[in-house]
Amino acid sequence: FKVPVAVNEPVKDYAPGSLERAEVAKTYKKMYDKTIDVPLFINGKDVKTGDTATMSCPHDHKHILGTYHNAEKKHVEKAISTALEARTKWAEMPWEQRAGIFLRAAELIAGPYRAKINAATMLAQSKTIYQAEIDAACELIDFLRFNVQFMTEIYHEQPASTSGAWNRLEYRPLEGFVYAITPFNFTAIAANLPASAALMGNVVVWKPSDSQVFSAKVILDIFKEAGVPDGVINMVMGDPVMITDTILASPDFSGIHFTGSTNVFKDIWQKIGTNIHNYKTYPRIVGETGGKDFIVAHKTANPQQVATAIARGAFEFQGQKCSAASRCYISESIWEKVEKYLIADVNSFKMGSPEDMGNFITAVIHEGSFDKLASYIDQAKKDKKANIIVGGNYDKSEGYFIEPTVIVTKDPNYTTMSTELFGPVVTIYVFEDKKWEETLELVDNTSEYALTGAVFSEDRYELEVAIKALKNAAGNFYVNDKPTGAVVGQQPFGGARASGTNDKAGSKLNLLRWISPRMIKETF
Ligand code: GLU
Repeated sequence: FKVPVAVNEPVKDYAPGSLERAEVAKTYKKMYDKTIDVPLFINGKDVKTGDTATMSCPHDHKHILGTYHNAEKKHVEKAISTALEARTKWAEMPWEQRAGIFLRAAELIAGPYRAKINAATMLAQSKTIYQAEIDAACELIDFLRFNVQFMTEIYHEQPASTSGAWNRLEYRPLEGFVYAITPFNFTAIAANLPASAALMGNVVVWKPSDSQVFSAKVILDIFKEAGVPDGVINMVMGDPVMITDTILASPDFSGIHFTGSTNVFKDIWQKIGTNIHNYKTYPRIVGETGGKDFIVAHKTANPQQVATAIARGAFEFQGQKCSAASRCYISESIWEKVEKYLIADVNSFKMGSPEDMGNFITAVIHEGSFDKLASYIDQAKKDKKANIIVGGNYDKSEGYFIEPTVIVTKDPNYTTMSTELFGPVVTIYVFEDKKWEETLELVDNTSEYALTGAVFSEDRYELEVAIKALKNAAGNFYVNDKPTGAVVGQQPFGGARASGTNDKAGSKLNLLRWISPRMIKETF
């Protein structure tokens, strides 16, 4: 009953001249030069519908990477029926076999497919090699390995028995199929949402983000090679409303594993409510939705530490993390120093194509995101309440590039203090030293979200004040550290309020949502 002890995959550094750097550069070029066609994936087979959309590079948007196929309703229905046909065999497969498949997938990513999954993520999701390595390689490997360990821990939890009665829990998967809707911003999350449900014995219909289909195809091929049987994970792309409505209309829909926007999630929840009388079982609703994550710094905080946390927390990954720092509250007496260090940090960031591995940030995901960010920046330029202290330029002639931008406002309710922008823009409010406790209240009340947050102080008493005051303001709370970079197996991830159901990705809690145990009592 022992499985390999999960350890976090070491992050490679891709130093100039290293073998791994050369390999990823070669793979990137090869994938850039050749176009691919991504069909739907149903019952282990490619399904071409002929209705195609194009995939391009966000940092080089005239360059076409290939096409993918859009589903019609009948294809979604086929994906559902196929999953249900595969269900019995998969659910009854010994758990060791399922564990073996996903552990093998982890090893395939750690070894032969590392360069490919990283290059795919760099090309179509515009990540630098360092961002891709942390996400598409390491975090995905970690999810796969740790989930196997968590699964075995769960399966071994059994109730007490007496000599006359043997009590045992049988860990069954959900009765029906699971729907996974996944985001563009993390290849690891895109793979983990279908994979974690499947590991627990469920069959899945997976709809990736349009902007992530390119690396989703690499994942599917790896899962197939690792031994995921036909029909267990099916992938459909296309009109999200049609796909979701078709899925939610099935009486066998038994759960949704979602990462994406708050509005889409609430909409789905409402539709599940409308359909509730049609379902065989109450569906599990698991979602991570958004954030407006904060940094709050007391007058005793270390200014350099605060500046670095803002710069990295807000701008790494182009700010396209649910956890990215996007509203900061800094005590007046340290602000001058924080500002100086922050401007220096931000000015040191190089922006450009991921092909140049010296770049620290790249383009945002698509034109819609670019236009939204540019309009908030323009507004801040015009607004008397706001002042841009660094950045503020943007250019979409080649790629969707937005300079890392710091807005300072005198109004704690300024729009960018509460609206989720999902890009490299951060807003700062400087508060009077004596208003520390009022500011903590402000932090708690300004946003509907509660995903991540960070407090900085060198005073242990004040840290405790903040930890208590912000009890419900974040599901992942950081003390003297940036609010990003949760590591699987170390910081289970998720938040409540408008940020999601807080079922903690990368933990046992999440896997428990994908089983429906049967209690068996046998008397003698
Ligand atoms: N787990 C990531 C982090 O802590 C964020 C994931 C997300 O953006 O959804 O930085």
